[in-house]
Amino acid sequence: MKDIAIVGGGPAGALCGERLASQGFQVTIFDERLAWEKPCGGGLTHKAIQAYPFLLDGPQPKKIVRTAELISGGGHRARFEMRHPIVIYARKVLNGLLLDRAVAAGCTAVCSRVTSVNTDNEQVRLMAGGEEHRTDFVVLAAGARNQLLPETTALGALDLEMTLGYFVPTEEDILKVKFLKEFEGYLWSFPRADHLSVGICAKMGQNPTQELRRHLDEFVQEENICMEGARFYSHVLPSPEAQTIRGRRIVGKNWAMAGDAAACVDPLTGEGLYYALRSGDLLAQALMEGQPQAYPERLRAAFSADLEFAANIARKIFRGNFLGEAVTTRMVQLLKHSPAARALIGEVFSGSQEYRGLKQRLLDQVGVTVLDFARSFLVPRAIYNRPRQVRREPQP
Ligand SMILES: Cc1cc2nc3c(=O)[nH]c(=O)nc-3n(C[C@H](O)[C@H](O)[C@H](O)COP(=O)(O)OP(=O)(O)OC[C@H]3O[C@@H](n4cnc5c(N)ncnc54)[C@H](O)[C@@H]3O)c2cc1C
Repeated sequence: MKDIAIVGGGPAGALCGERLASQGFQVTIFDERLAWEKPCGGGLTHKAIQAYPFLLDGPQPKKIVRTAELISGGGHRARFEMRHPIVIYARKVLNGLLLDRAVAAGCTAVCSRVTSVNTDNEQVRLMAGGEEHRTDFVVLAAGARNQLLPETTALGALDLEMTLGYFVPTEEDILKVKFLKEFEGYLWSFPRADHLSVGICAKMGQNPTQELRRHLDEFVQEENICMEGARFYSHVLPSPEAQTIRGRRIVGKNWAMAGDAAACVDPLTGEGLYYALRSGDLLAQALMEGQPQAYPERLRAAFSADLEFAANIARKIFRGNFLGEAVTTRMVQLLKHSPAARALIGEVFSGSQEYRGLKQRLLDQVGVTVLDFARSFLVPRAIYNRPRQVRREPQP
């Protein structure tokens, strides 16, 4: 195998192409837009920066954010500092940076839409810009809306989220996330170098678009965001169920999927950039070793077992109750109350704490604080029920 076509020049396709071309493969990346402002928060967590330090070191404009604020459905707020910052890019800048690296490594980047992929024969045939191209292997990294599905199924409504948002030309330093009651998703405001990405995500089909738009507009007003010059966007985002992460086919004899197309997204936070980069990277390694079939197992070892864990707890976090209130509200209250919880959530947010180790850390470090916190809800009732003291009149 020498000749590889990649459909999609986003983070997954561009990094996969860069890795393969640098090892002597002939790689053509087809993207209908090349570098563009894909609807996105643009936030890269610590694990992405650790794995790909050029994302922090390069001269490209980006925002380095250390302070985050969580807001509950009832309006409680808790601010915390992140030991490792989140690095936020405009997507046109990020995609441009990754594509430039791919081209510098030897890839050919073609601005063209791929309309069909046929993997039935030894050589893959794909149609782009009205021309047929033949290749040894095709990487499908065409994002969440990918319709090119050899021997596999499309992501269904249960595996997707709807997102709506605005790019707003204003500056901010704090990253904000707001939860809503009985709502599987959240609102966000991500500051970038010279604008904000503000948006809302929600499980597909659970809330009408007008309702999402209303929540978004209320959030913008509550946070006093000046909307002059704001640009609206909307896009889908994978939010895979555990069984999709475990069972969906993402590789065949002459094709494989990476990034959003392979549903490599955290179903709890919506983080997809790190998983797109990492899946593109792992796929390239498997191809270099001539073992594409090993790719799903490598994904599992690297992160998909953790994403499956997140898929299993997502609904409980967004819709669950604890001591008579939404879990998300209790979480915000706990953050206000406990420095240990703030440190821990800071690490979850910035991507340096995996979900699988979270339960043990909660027990080890935050356990006592959670108990104190629970008591602070129960004690006022205890005080209220205590018999009133009788004031004794001084005896003459
Ligand atoms: C509103 C929103 C906010 C988000 N915020 C964050 C965030 O803050 N942090 C984070 O980590 N993740 C975030 N994500 C997720 C992140 O955007 C994706 O996980 C990431 O972009 C996936 O990268 P990818 O390379 O797999 O796909 P994409 O970035 O979607 O790239 C796919 C590329 O394929 C091209 N393409 C598609 N079809 C064809 C075709 N037929 N022919 C040729 N080219 C084609 C497209 O033009 C595109 O450039 C967010 C997503 C959304 C929707």
